[in-house]
Amino acid sequence: MEFSSKLIESAVNEFSKLPGIGKKTALRLVLHLLKQDENFTTDIAQSLIDMRQNIKYCKKCHNISDEEVCNICKSHKRDNSIICLVEDTRDVLAIENTSQYNGLYHVLGGIISPIEGIGPEDLTIDSLMERVSSAESEVKEIIFGLSPTMEGDTTAFYISKKVKQLGIKTSTIARGIPIGGELEYADEITLGRSIVSRTAYE
Ligand SMILES: [Zn+2]
Repeated sequence: MEFSSKLIESAVNEFSKLPGIGKKTALRLVLHLLKQDENFTTDIAQSLIDMRQNIKYCKKCHNISDEEVCNICKSHKRDNSIICLVEDTRDVLAIENTSQYNGLYHVLGGIISPIEGIGPEDLTIDSLMERVSSAESEVKEIIFGLSPTMEGDTTAFYISKKVKQLGIKTSTIARGIPIGGELEYADEITLGRSIVSRTAYE
């Protein structure tokens, strides 16, 4: 792509470093910014700088937070006896959006993947162990909210072995047929697991 301006070229190059943004989309965004008031661009840039400089990770659960301890860990309304283990912050948001869960979380920062060279030491597993074995811990159950992949299963297996020694119950989120999904289109692993982890019909 040839540009008549080095400034445009540079902005397009920066935008196209983002995931899912090709050169064409980047150019469309840059030209859009040029059409807006100058403040529009300044506000976007400032909010990105503020976010990057000031974001913190909760020292208890490792979720993204504005403060040392996140709102979920701080809340008195949450059930301190359950921790849902997830891969990243997006999973916390997804589960929070269901309004069906009132326990705490622990964000692992990934899952064990020998192929990608990610071992248990690269995740927040040590911090989880410290958290659940500390004297003031009220944790009685850990729910594995991990992807139903081999890596997710490996991670759950690794952690469940460790926490079971502490007498903590482990469970995994049910893996089943999407609501509104048709049975015949579900893959056999999903269908198999839905039968194995069936729940009482109420
Ligand atoms: Zn937290």
